[in-house]
Amino acid sequence: MDYIKKSQKLQNVCYDIRGPVLEEATRLEEEGYNIYKLNIGNTAPFGLDAPDEIIHDVMYNLKNAQGYCHAHGIFPARKAVMQYYQKKGILDVEMDDIFIGNGVSELIVMAMQGLLNDGDEILVPTPDYPLWTAAVNLSGGKAVHYLCDEENKWYPDLDDIRAKVNEKTKGIVIINPNNPTGANYPPDILQGIINIAKENELIIYSDEIYEKIIYNGTEHTSVATMTDEVLVVTFSGLSKSHRVPGFRAGWMMLSGQKYHAKSYIEGLNMLASMRLCSNVPSQYAIQTSLGGYQSIEDLVLPGGRLKEQRDLAYELITDIPGISCVKPEAGLYLFPKIDTERYNIKNDEKFILDFLTQEKVLLVQGSGFNWPKPDHFRIVFLPGEEDLRIALGRLKKFLSNYSQA
Ligand code: PLP
Repeated sequence: MDYIKKSQKLQNVCYDIRGPVLEEATRLEEEGYNIYKLNIGNTAPFGLDAPDEIIHDVMYNLKNAQGYCHAHGIFPARKAVMQYYQKKGILDVEMDDIFIGNGVSELIVMAMQGLLNDGDEILVPTPDYPLWTAAVNLSGGKAVHYLCDEENKWYPDLDDIRAKVNEKTKGIVIINPNNPTGANYPPDILQGIINIAKENELIIYSDEIYEKIIYNGTEHTSVATMTDEVLVVTFSGLSKSHRVPGFRAGWMMLSGQKYHAKSYIEGLNMLASMRLCSNVPSQYAIQTSLGGYQSIEDLVLPGGRLKEQRDLAYELITDIPGISCVKPEAGLYLFPKIDTERYNIKNDEKFILDFLTQEKVLLVQGSGFNWPKPDHFRIVFLPGEEDLRIALGRLKKFLSNYSQA
């Protein structure tokens, strides 16, 4: 009899990117199988190394990084982040508005815990990066999902957002550029979100961890640069753009209506202090990363490895009968649609598990991103050309005679 039980607060919390399918993949690996991992945006295993300068600066400063630091982060890192946003045009951002965290992940949870009372609602996109839904629910709130529209480049459906605002709604989350869809939101969509937030006194939470991974030369717009009439909390960090997800270096920046959020900011300060500070050595990577030459551009411009892999993965996946896909403008992922009638797919986790068991390729089912139908899945295009060809070739072969029992 299992008498030690998990907290009821975890009842509605789920994070399937590292769920049961991954456990099965790990088991198969332990049996000796080589698994093609197209499941997680972890750059290191695919030879996408961090710029040498960053590694050097962290090593150089290691001796200075032995003690706890300010709860918001070390001075040069916060200063660099502050100036980064000032240069984008957000002029009233100050040192105190910057919080450095153990990755954006820690700060997402902190931002929700500092805000939500039981039953408060946060509008979260579907599909989403599932940490957002999990963090809202873990904090006693309720994640209410608004639709991102595949027919309109996966942009947020503003009418759906508007229809879901009520007196319990406290904020709107946007993931821009988006994981899993790869959408990069244009200013008119962002303006629509600002209008809704302003009319209803909502906070905008903007997760911009992929802000530098943009293909096609399109610009990224930080929503915070477009308004000072709403409280905007912007999140970004080094995990993706500077290929150091293991360093756990992220930040959150408050802008706009800070003056009506004194109590919330007090709460955030308290939570930041309770965990003393963020991992100090990796904070020394932040100033270097934000200044000078941005090596990510070599990877995303034409001829760059990530752009080539995106194009190849898109070509290979859309060549499979019954699969369509909006070509991602940004990020590291494809979120294709599969014809569930053709393949008789009723359960997307089973589909992904069957594919893993038979072909030793690991993907993530769409429901892992709080997508309500079994008709999508996510592919990470970080592996090199040869591995992408093998993995997606296996998917084509697998589907040629797949029908869910
Ligand atoms: N936000 C999004 C949209 C992500 O895709 C990820 C990681 O994949 C994170 C946040 C977490 O980033 P970090 O490594 O900074 O915790």
